[in-house]
Amino acid sequence: MLIGPQNFAVRLRDIRDRIARAAKSAGRDPASITLVAVGKTHPAALLRTAATAGVTDFGENYLQEAAGKLDLLADLPLRWHYIGRLQANKTRAIATRFDWVHGVDRADIARRLSEQRSPHAPPLNVCIQVALAAETNKGGIPPAGVADLAASTAQLPRLRLRGLMCLPPPQADPARQRPVFAAMRALLQELNARGLALDTLSMGMSEDFEAAIAEGATMVRIGSALFGPRQ
Ligand SMILES: *Cc1c(COP(=O)(O)O)cnc(C)c1O
Repeated sequence: MLIGPQNFAVRLRDIRDRIARAAKSAGRDPASITLVAVGKTHPAALLRTAATAGVTDFGENYLQEAAGKLDLLADLPLRWHYIGRLQANKTRAIATRFDWVHGVDRADIARRLSEQRSPHAPPLNVCIQVALAAETNKGGIPPAGVADLAASTAQLPRLRLRGLMCLPPPQADPARQRPVFAAMRALLQELNARGLALDTLSMGMSEDFEAAIAEGATMVRIGSALFGPRQ
C-alpha cells in the first residue's frame, strides 16, 4: 500500500498523540521527546511528505541508501540521524553527512568520527550504544564498558557526546522492555553523577516507544508505525 500525504498525516497525528499521552502519564513534557522518523527502505518522496507534515528528524541505517535521500532532500532543513551499524570504512561519509550518530560502541570508531568531522561543521552529536539485553549481533557495548568509553568519547574535540542508545530484541509484551529502559536511565544518571552532562536517551521503536517514554526516553526511533511495513 502506498502512503499518500493525507494518510501519512493521520499516522503522524496518531503517533504524536500516543507520545504525548505516554509523556503525560509519566509526568513528562511531551516537548522533551523527539520523534526520529526511521525511513529505511522508504523512498525520498515519502520522507518529503513527512517533512512537509512537520517531521524534522530522520533516521537511516544504510549509508548508500541514505546518501541518495540526503541529496534528494538537500533543500529541506532536516536533521539526519545515522542509526545503523558503524564500519570503519564508512565513518568519513557518516561524519560528513549526518548530524547525529546513535550507535557508537568502540573507541576507535569514535576517534575516527571526530577526526573526520569537518572543522566548519558543528560538532557531531553522538550516543553510545549499550547492549543491555542479550543482543547478539546488533552492536553495543556491555554496561561495564560504558563509563570508560563515555569518558574518552567526551574528550574528542569534534564530537558532542549526548547520551545513550539501545536496541533490545523485540518482546511480545512491550511492558517486558521496561526493565531494560529503566537500566538505561540508571546508567545515564550514573554517568552524569561522574561529571558528564548527558541529555539523551535514544530508546523505543514502533512496538515499544510508550514503555521507553515511561522510563525516560528523549528520542524515539519510529519506522513502521509511521511509514508502514518495510519493502
Ligand atoms: C529500523 C530501526 C528502527 C525502527 O524500527 P520500527 O520497529 O520500524 O519502528 C529504530 N531503530 C533502529 C536502530 C532501527 O534499525
